[in-house]
Amino acid sequence: MTAQLISGNEISKQIREELRQEIAGLKEKHNLVPGLVTVLVGADPASQVYVGQKEKTSKDLGIYSERHDLPANTTQADLLKLIDKLNKDPKINGILVQLPLPKHLSEAEVLYAINPKKDVDGFHPVNVGKLMIGEPDYLPCTPAGIQQLLIRTGVKIDGAEVVVVGRSNIVGKPIANILLQKAPGANATVTICHTGTKDIAFHTKRADILIVASGRPKTVTGDMVKEGVVVIDVGVNQVGMTKDGKRILAGDVDFDTVKEKAKAITPVPGGVGPMTITMLMLNTVKAAKLAAGLP
Ligand code: NAP
Repeated sequence: MTAQLISGNEISKQIREELRQEIAGLKEKHNLVPGLVTVLVGADPASQVYVGQKEKTSKDLGIYSERHDLPANTTQADLLKLIDKLNKDPKINGILVQLPLPKHLSEAEVLYAINPKKDVDGFHPVNVGKLMIGEPDYLPCTPAGIQQLLIRTGVKIDGAEVVVVGRSNIVGKPIANILLQKAPGANATVTICHTGTKDIAFHTKRADILIVASGRPKTVTGDMVKEGVVVIDVGVNQVGMTKDGKRILAGDVDFDTVKEKAKAITPVPGGVGPMTITMLMLNTVKAAKLAAGLP
């Protein structure tokens, strides 16, 4: 079997076009412009790239974008003061604090200080809890992107056996929670594996849909999956450098052996990756509509 490639680039492009139209409509009909602010502390090169991409995508779609670059020695008090100001700013619907923060700052305290209504990352305990009880305002971006990849590829999620490898708060737990809800695009039977799981292959071999977010290349190999499985590889691992200094990336799945048995699989790069920023934009539009009392 040759697996269909699930292109996050293409699906992301579709969603961005839908958002572009929606944003234009909000401006025209309601004079409403969604606003997103990014806060970066320090000059970590990878974080600078991520923040730059978020800023560029916002502007491209017609979202008002603001960026605060703070020095690495910013104090907790100053950062909290900025968050408080942004919480009160009506132009701003979404606040994104780029992680990781420098070690002397408390990430938890900063994330908890964001008004849950502006928490477009979906990491605030209020939003985590709302997802848990099936009444989410915002889905965390990477898991929301995974669900969209499945829905828009026409994968049957209702009734499927879903196995998630990894239980982090940003990927594993929320995607498991999303797909087990009694809701459209969900209603699956979900198993979560982690380093305490006795026999991972026992579980992965039963999966109709396998989602791997372990942070380790080749966590899942071809002998660990059944024919016809749909595989979402969340991993981004640098496995080398090209001669001209570009990073060589691999996922958490052994693509070459798994693609021989899978019905469909996401590539790395170009699978889950492009969806994350797109879902951040979608959450920002949602936040603007919620703030304006629009359905
Ligand atoms: P993480 O916080 O390191 O969590 C990894 C999880 O995988 C942990 O729960 C760990 O179990 C489990 N695990 C590790 N090795 C395992 C193994 N051999 N078998 C079973 N479970 C194993 O990672 P994360 O933040 O969720 O990220 C996972 C991957 O996704 C990374 O490669 C990351 O770069 C990527 N990622 C991509 C995006 C994107 O936008 N494309 C976004 C976020 C993350 P324990 O809990 O027992 O330690």
